Amino acid sequence: MSNSKITMALAGNPNAGKTTLFNKLTGARQHVGNYPGITVSHKEGYFKHQGRETIITDLPGTYSLTAYSIEEIVSRDFLTTEKPDVVINIVDASNLERNLYLTTQFLEMGVPLIIALNMMDVARDRGIEIRFTKLSELLGIPVVPIIARSGKGTEELISEAIKIANKNLPLVSKDISYGEDLDEVLMEIIAVIEEASFLTPNYTPRFTAIKYLEHDDQMLTKGAEADPELARHLEQTVGIVSDHLLKTMDVYPEAIIADHRYGFIKSIIRQGVMTHKFDTDRLYTSDRIDKVLTNRLMGPVVMLVILFGLYQFTFSWSELPVLWMEGLFSWLSTVVETSIPDGMLKSLIISGIIDGVGGVLGFVPLIMFMFFGIAVLEDSGYLARVAFMMDRVFRIFGLHGSSVMPFIVSGGIAGGCAVPGVMATRTLRSPKERMATLLTVPFMNCGAKVPVLVLLIGAFFKEHKALYMFLFTMLAWLVALFAAKFLRMTVLKGEATPFVMELPPYRFPTLQGLLIHTWERTWQYVKKAGTVILGISILLWALMTFPGLPDSQSEYYDTLRDQAISSFTPPVLRELEKNPSQSDQLSADAMLLQNKLTLINQQESAKTLKNSVAGKIGSFFVPISSFAGFDWRTNIAMLGGFAAKEVIISTLGTVYSMGDLDSENTGSLDQRLLNDPNWNRVVAVSALVFIMFYAPCFVTLVCIAKEASWKWAFFSMAFNTVFAFLAAVAIFQIGSLFG
Ligand code: GDP
Ligand code: MG
Repeated sequence: MSNSKITMALAGNPNAGKTTLFNKLTGARQHVGNYPGITVSHKEGYFKHQGRETIITDLPGTYSLTAYSIEEIVSRDFLTTEKPDVVINIVDASNLERNLYLTTQFLEMGVPLIIALNMMDVARDRGIEIRFTKLSELLGIPVVPIIARSGKGTEELISEAIKIANKNLPLVSKDISYGEDLDEVLMEIIAVIEEASFLTPNYTPRFTAIKYLEHDDQMLTKGAEADPELARHLEQTVGIVSDHLLKTMDVYPEAIIADHRYGFIKSIIRQGVMTHKFDTDRLYTSDRIDKVLTNRLMGPVVMLVILFGLYQFTFSWSELPVLWMEGLFSWLSTVVETSIPDGMLKSLIISGIIDGVGGVLGFVPLIMFMFFGIAVLEDSGYLARVAFMMDRVFRIFGLHGSSVMPFIVSGGIAGGCAVPGVMATRTLRSPKERMATLLTVPFMNCGAKVPVLVLLIGAFFKEHKALYMFLFTMLAWLVALFAAKFLRMTVLKGEATPFVMELPPYRFPTLQGLLIHTWERTWQYVKKAGTVILGISILLWALMTFPGLPDSQSEYYDTLRDQAISSFTPPVLRELEKNPSQSDQLSADAMLLQNKLTLINQQESAKTLKNSVAGKIGSFFVPISSFAGFDWRTNIAMLGGFAAKEVIISTLGTVYSMGDLDSENTGSLDQRLLNDPNWNRVVAVSALVFIMFYAPCFVTLVCIAKEASWKWAFFSMAFNTVFAFLAAVAIFQIGSLFG
């Protein structure tokens, strides 16, 4: 016995502190957030307590155990099929009454339960005093006060939990009264269920009976599968009761059950479990802040100011570190340039690897600052207010206040990722609102698009960088919302669901929390750059390099080089061989020769690129893409973007460094674009719009397919690309008309 592993489950309302406790216990770094809906699927971790190995699972947060949402079903199924040795129910002490609603349902389920009374610090600050021994007595289960954030009380909690686990308790439902009418029927049904051992290995007869009365879809299905005849009989009995209640009292059984659960909780609290030290009329700080921040008029204004401030912060603070990163990678290129002989390998390392990965990693500081800013908003609780306020707007477009989270995660405040965004749509309850959200979140400016935005805005709209970033972010929102409206009016027609979202109290973010948040997301981005992007970058390099030039052509360039060299004297040549990297120390003659050679090399690589597989594909699309102002080189970059948007910038970097015919047109990529005759402000806007809205990257598509279906994934790819192209054409044509 004492050698076997103990299994524990953490369950509770969203925001009660499950993940915080989980991280404290296991030392893992799971995402902790101050808004509902972060933990969607369950997560497992391990720790040892007094030599006993323990497996602990962080379940998604729920307010109830009905079968209305995915979280609820996930939690319930986990508890009934995995049968953890003990369930730790985390209860937010500062919100005791509401949190105990879920507790009553665990008690009904009859799982071995212990309460972790969390946020004792918050409760104390609010003048709430809880007599937890009394609470424990009344509920008949242990209650341990803790502060998950600091780890206070967690030792004792785990010791108590292990004690329960060791007892190996069978499932025993607590009898909560649901009023005379229902209690009577319950007794009858329970007797029938017990008699037939109906669904008994996983559910207590009482729980099954309650679920039948509540008309719980999942249980009805399970019952019908297990014993169709008995199930039909039970449904009939329940049907009669429902009809009777409806006629006499105009309510459904589920409403009566819920009322009595609340009554049960109220009675417990009234028995001296909780007292308020302060006058209850007094507004809590959170409510006071909300008076201003979610005010009908002031709220949106403050919101815009805060979001705009986030941009200013991100762009001004990250400027210097971005420069350092660029410096680092150009230094790397120079090192390779001088230490490796000319040829395929050098080209692979510089054009394929350093430029590719550097283009992505160069933006890490920027993304870090952006994520840090978002983490502040998120951890403080402000982001939930944004969702609350946005609901009014979202409603108009056939979405839901909870849609805001997926949008923001995907890059609603530029610099997220549609992958977690698509996954975050799981918290939406209505399937149609969920699909509409899922299909439009890829329109947001994810972390991969941000570098492209920064590059093109930096090059063509240098004077108002922050303003243009802000405008393009607004544009992303507008397009996403109107696309959602369009989908909700066509393929996703249907009713809206009522908005239920709680506002967590404002909290002062901890530095540790902020850093973990920032690190996690940045790391996600870097990982992508290091693996997928590196692979794609090398693949694209190959596409852009092979099949290479026919021999006759390379010989032609060799001859050109020979001719150039032979026209100079040997001392000049020696000078070049000795010191090829520092051109400013060369004599005038040597410089002349070097420039000549560079020009020839560039012409050769331009020819090579045009002749390459990628060049052919790019050129093939020119007749179509020219309507939007894209030349063959831009086409190559867009092509790469189908795989991952990060690739766009690195490909532009590669195409424009390899294929430059004009020898004066050197320098950084933005300089090259600025000087290129094929690029101007209109093309830049057209390209930006296309990049923002065309097909989601491959990883996102796979996620959409997993969350919905491949049909929807392909729909998304086609719909977005066609839309983006039409928009780009419109912009280019109209823009060119007005110069
Ligand atoms: P979950 O939704 O249940 O997983 O909740 P989280 O673990 O994500 O916590 C929600 C928020 O509450 C986070 O901002 C935590 O830092 C904060 N939090 C968790 N436990 C405590 C606590 O004991 N005291 C205080 N003051 N904050 C806490
Ligand atoms: Mg969580």
